Amino acid sequence: MQSALFVRQKPRHIGNMTDSPALPNLNWPDFRPGWVWLCGAGPGDPGLLTLHGLHALRQADVVVHDALIDMALLNWAPQAEHINVGKRGGTPSPKQHEISQKLIDLAHQNKRVLRLKGGDPYVFGRGGEEAQTLVQNGVPFRLIPGISAGIGGLAYAGIPATHRDANQSVTFVTGHDMSGNTPSLDWQAISKGSETIIIYMGMRHIGKIATALRAAGRPADEPAAVVCAATTPEQRVLETTLGHIEADIAAADLCPPAIICIGRSVLMRQALDWQALLTGEQPRNTDPLEHGATTQK
Ligand code: SAH
Repeated sequence: MQSALFVRQKPRHIGNMTDSPALPNLNWPDFRPGWVWLCGAGPGDPGLLTLHGLHALRQADVVVHDALIDMALLNWAPQAEHINVGKRGGTPSPKQHEISQKLIDLAHQNKRVLRLKGGDPYVFGRGGEEAQTLVQNGVPFRLIPGISAGIGGLAYAGIPATHRDANQSVTFVTGHDMSGNTPSLDWQAISKGSETIIIYMGMRHIGKIATALRAAGRPADEPAAVVCAATTPEQRVLETTLGHIEADIAAADLCPPAIICIGRSVLMRQALDWQALLTGEQPRNTDPLEHGATTQK
């Protein structure tokens, strides 16, 4: 398989949403003062926020958000104070315990505190730790899930997390642990047990990870993809193989945030790259897994 880098074409037209009636009457929860709502913002595209997330933004007194979220989301909370606790222009980001303490302090000031995190709060996002600290300090909270980059980001690149012809299992792993090293995962077990491996925060150690997977028996020509800034106008997709992934990332000068997917499901992109289809391109292959009619079986 030849490697190739795809840069997302900017959308031709950004229109308004169909003039929509008010949100359906669903018994929306009341955001009470003194509460913290921990909410996933999705991987980038503001349209991937959930309706509960939108409802929360409209009611919040203060939004405490990460750097990775699209700042356009904050336009939906003009009434609220906005606090960025992500990394900004080289300044170190606040420590986790400082963020948790900030949430507790704001809740104690009787504010409606919306903690907005990239993707899903409970997927490699330390949301579990934040929620636990709230519980330990008696601060009531609600959790609003979000679309995780490892699923939604890949879907925007035309890669389904599962496909009957490619994988019956998928494993989500983090590419580095708390100390910044490669995590001490059992790559042998992961390699054997999961056809598709989706790696968060994998850019720094991709060389080591690829070597470990190869040592565990995964073939050098196994398809792999790197999706940078998924779902944003800056999205870039590298199609490569396990054997070439490290060199190709360097050659294409790709940088985080990026999701890495290893496995045959990557090939489905040849058929399902819907962003390319939107621009009038033809699918490169309508049956990349060479199983024809699975869907008709
Ligand atoms: N809670 C988030 C993950 C946070 S960890 C979620 O559920 O998606 C941060 C990592 O997520 C990044 O290093 C990257 O691997 C991935 N990530 C987040 N947003 C991304 C995006 N728009 N494109 C590609 N990867 C992304």
